[in-house]
Amino acid sequence: MIIKNGLVFNENCVFEKKDIYIENNIIVDSIEKVTDKTEIDASGNYVIPGLIDTHIHGATGHDFCDKDAKGLISIAKYLKSNGITAFCPTSMTLKKELLKEIFNTATTDLPKDCANIVGIHMEGPFLSKEKKGAQDATFIVTPQVDMFKELNEACNGMIKIITMAPECDGGLEFIKEMSKTVSISLGHTTANYDMAKQAFDLGATRATHLFNAMPAFNHRDPSVVGAALDSENAFVELISDGIHIHPSMVRATFKMFTDDKVILISDAMMATGMENGSYELGGQKVTMKDKKATLADGTIAGSATNLFDCMRKAVSFGIPLESAIKACTKNPAVSINVFDKMGSISVGKLANLVILDKDLNIKNVI
Ligand SMILES: [Zn+2]
Repeated sequence: MIIKNGLVFNENCVFEKKDIYIENNIIVDSIEKVTDKTEIDASGNYVIPGLIDTHIHGATGHDFCDKDAKGLISIAKYLKSNGITAFCPTSMTLKKELLKEIFNTATTDLPKDCANIVGIHMEGPFLSKEKKGAQDATFIVTPQVDMFKELNEACNGMIKIITMAPECDGGLEFIKEMSKTVSISLGHTTANYDMAKQAFDLGATRATHLFNAMPAFNHRDPSVVGAALDSENAFVELISDGIHIHPSMVRATFKMFTDDKVILISDAMMATGMENGSYELGGQKVTMKDKKATLADGTIAGSATNLFDCMRKAVSFGIPLESAIKACTKNPAVSINVFDKMGSISVGKLANLVILDKDLNIKNVI
């Protein structure tokens, strides 16, 4: 396949007019290497890498934690049709035995019209009860290396990210021992600056939904936010659905951290892609009205906006298009070590591509 005349988001994260050659779903460097010479005319359109959502619980009425392979396929189809070509299904705080069964479903072979699963994001159960957000405190436990290893074995080593609170008993020891195996993300935490800085120095590389479920960015205790800013290797997740974070804070975050370090995520739950109504997240009842999902007590419970729409929102908040795309493609890929296969339009990588018109409407997902 050949994609002609598009404005292509290139390896330097700028747009450039060029053609893309695809053979066996891989981008190749010349037309001679292409067997099927079908052309797609992308004149006047953008061509960007498929988006990668590294924090998503569900969509289309299904949740990863339903431990239902068919539901996972439905989520993955929805994502692909919305330009998200890879994702990390994300778990909630639940019992170990149940998590094992859930994680096992991620090993399912997905049909061709689905987004690829590129790893599991394990959100809990090693969290702070004080900052549980929409997580069920009943199942929160202290960080345990053995438990993590058992869960990781249940899915053939697919856990790529673990969200945890470093201040819990054994938290720092866990980070020290496991940071080479899994990307440690600080979240649902009461950590102050010093604790968070220590966690980053020991190998944590990420902060989960920055600003949400952590102490505020305070002038005398800048908490996880300040510690992430002072740590060279830290990526920060940001939910830019327009509900979790004020647009001004989205702009401030891109300015502070630069577009090298921000990863946009959806944190989407099962109501995404659905009508207003009652749904569930991690065993708790959630009401979704006009894209806002809340528990009975008003706590925000995940989002109802997919990553593509989060990217568009970020642009509408004033984030440059190139920066917003980078935060949904290259940065998430680098953060989970899959940038050699996806996350940019480069020779040798998967031809996961989205063609958009100038108003950022999806024309085609490849
Ligand atoms: Zn989440």
